Amino acid sequence: MIQDLLTFLDHSPSRFHAVANLCGELEAAGYTRLNEGETRPMAPGGKYYVTRGSSALLAFRIPRPDFTGFMISASHSDAPTFRIKENAEVEGPEGYLRLNAERYGGMLCAPWLDRPLTVAGRVLVRDGSEAIASRLVYVDRDLLLIPNVAIHMNRTANEGFQYDPKCDMVPLMGMKLAKGTFREIVAQAAGCGAGDILGTDLCLCLRQKGVIWGAENQFISAARLDDLQCAWGCFRGFMEARDSASVPVYALMDNEEIGSRTKQGAGGTFMIDWMKRICDSVGRERLSAIANSFLVSADNAHAVHPNHPEYADPTHRPAMNGGVVIKHGVRYTTGGVACAVFSALCERAGVPTQHFANRSDLPGGGTLGLIANTHVSINAVDIGLAQLAMHSCFETAGVKDTDYLIQAMTAFYSASFREENERFTLE
Ligand code: ZN
Repeated sequence: MIQDLLTFLDHSPSRFHAVANLCGELEAAGYTRLNEGETRPMAPGGKYYVTRGSSALLAFRIPRPDFTGFMISASHSDAPTFRIKENAEVEGPEGYLRLNAERYGGMLCAPWLDRPLTVAGRVLVRDGSEAIASRLVYVDRDLLLIPNVAIHMNRTANEGFQYDPKCDMVPLMGMKLAKGTFREIVAQAAGCGAGDILGTDLCLCLRQKGVIWGAENQFISAARLDDLQCAWGCFRGFMEARDSASVPVYALMDNEEIGSRTKQGAGGTFMIDWMKRICDSVGRERLSAIANSFLVSADNAHAVHPNHPEYADPTHRPAMNGGVVIKHGVRYTTGGVACAVFSALCERAGVPTQHFANRSDLPGGGTLGLIANTHVSINAVDIGLAQLAMHSCFETAGVKDTDYLIQAMTAFYSASFREENERFTLE
């Protein structure tokens, strides 16, 4: 299983690739593709998927018209990176040719330096006289690098350094003779002419492939573990679950790293739009279906750091390979009910759980759980897998935890949730 995760990570250099890879698997498993602009009927017994913006995905199965509710997992497709600006090439200084890039999300800057990089994403190309088509792009070669300044010129580099994104984080592509070639390199990777490209969504990605390492091969390090490790684990659980009385929904949302407030992000209406559509298409009353629903917001969590254990809260100290992490605090959606329901589910599935909370003087990061909850007001829990170096371009997590998540999510998607008179039932 862990090799399959590595393959998925290596084949998903951008959020568009991650969504396309999962769509390919859904297609092969007989899922019907829906388009948001169509009013195609959905029927009990059917299994479907739909994308928004090519970077967010919903997949679901409708077991019967009188289904209990929705069992949803939501993770995010994006990761911190550098977005390539439209007029990408920067000439000079001194005959160098660089690319103009801006920060996307809150990354650690230092790990991006001195490593082979390339670009990935999609381009929008002219397709006949009236249409524009979206094409995936991955430039499969060592194309770029952001060079450090030598210690001899910056003697205080090891005493803490403030990175200026417009100066320190600009990737080098070549010398001035290469002027005008970036668009051609991208076009070649997309299989189109440079003149046919009308728009781009491109960002930097690391060329380094994911690895399994450690004395007992217990660690996995790769790009984009946050949040593709959870995205992949939830997807496996979704695909492997048996039918229950509820509609299992797999959600992969975009733009979590920049606040989710986009049409394809959890702050948009993608999830609630389709919950309404599913209810209406089979004649299920909406409000009671939503009341009997449960959302697992799955996004990676911080493991205790081996060199800096002091950053962890004194009584919440998740370990890699220690099981699925339940997250608590004001920036998470988890409440007592959600914690109880999810803990009971994991216990039933034989999956260990651990708890995370921020140290009381550290704000920590948010997740899409709270944001999604403003549109889809259902019981929800924030969970994740323990990892190190979150938002580095090469992150580290536990090998065993991926299997734990798959087991937990298979059990989750095989269950139904019901709330009545302050009693909460998982069937
Ligand atoms: Zn995340």
